Amino acid sequence: MLNIRIEKNPNPGQKPDPDTLSFGAVFTDHMFVMDYETEKGWYDPRIVPYAPISLDPAAMVFHYGQEMFEGMKAYKAADGRVLLFRPDKNIARANNTNKRLCIPQVPEEDFLQALKAVVKVDEDWIPTKEGTSLYIRPFIIATDPHLGVHPSNTYKMMIILSPVGAYYPEGINPVKIWIEDEYVRAVRGGIGEAKTGGNYAASLASQVKADAAGYSQVLWLDGVHRKYIEEVGSMNIVFKINGTIVTPKLNGSILPGVTRDSVLSLCREWGIPVEERLIDVEELVAAARSGALEEAFGTGTAAVISPVGELRYEDEVMQINGGKIGELSQKIYDTITGIQLGKLQGPEGWSVEVE
Ligand SMILES: *Cc1c(COP(=O)(O)O)cnc(C)c1O
Repeated sequence: MLNIRIEKNPNPGQKPDPDTLSFGAVFTDHMFVMDYETEKGWYDPRIVPYAPISLDPAAMVFHYGQEMFEGMKAYKAADGRVLLFRPDKNIARANNTNKRLCIPQVPEEDFLQALKAVVKVDEDWIPTKEGTSLYIRPFIIATDPHLGVHPSNTYKMMIILSPVGAYYPEGINPVKIWIEDEYVRAVRGGIGEAKTGGNYAASLASQVKADAAGYSQVLWLDGVHRKYIEEVGSMNIVFKINGTIVTPKLNGSILPGVTRDSVLSLCREWGIPVEERLIDVEELVAAARSGALEEAFGTGTAAVISPVGELRYEDEVMQINGGKIGELSQKIYDTITGIQLGKLQGPEGWSVEVE
């Protein structure tokens, strides 16, 4: 149990207009901070006014990228309850990322307590307009002021909060995705299954290229054979081929998404066949050509479900479901957001109330 000190912000900010909310541009009045030293462990957990922090220019995070992050959301139910969605999954994944990056573990119950405490303090910042929520960004950075490559002895954990609108400003309209055949994001044995900034740094050049060609995200192929589907920039990818849900299996280079897991659980519950396996890009192209590829969508906390209306691989452009959101995609979106907002009863443990 953490003994969290709370210092209230004497100058609370203006809440944003819910009609023009974008993603990740506005932050709340407070943030959670906790420090770590090898001899002391985690210490001084506190909720303080949101403000810039001061770090030594030699802090290891700036030079060697030893950092981790998570992404989750809080929602306000119609009856006023504040709900988190499967926070235990994010916390377990955070500690897997920590392990891979030699960052100290955060006890699960302390992590959950910190999340609830900071969300509670800024509860009034949770927007209620349809499609909006409070995005939660926990992260840990290595702070030793030292230009030598080794795991840091000191760390800072923070949780910041951002009221967000829809991730894609176009709304739930299908996105256009570029299948990347030049760069790779991750390889097995690397850090692809960890949620860490380095994977995103590696993705930027490709993202810029796709953007210039009019595509909003890239779909990565595996780093060894350069032919098996992995995932989209910040989302896992799911296909409906001839009535079966098909998604790449978690092979060590793919991020194990909480939304991915939720989608697969729901589909299995609904009796839809689900396959987690290798998907050769040529199989996908063939399925798109023959019409067997009925739906495609990305899954991730930010957008929940992001239907794919168009895929481009080399010179071939493939339309999916006439560029419209598929029936199953819509049903999955409605069900997951219904559970998140407390309108539908989800499986045991999926909704966690902030009291
Ligand atoms: C966070 C993330 C996802 C989606 O995970 P969720 O838990 O569903 O939000 C997918 N891919 C990458 C690379 C990610 O960083």
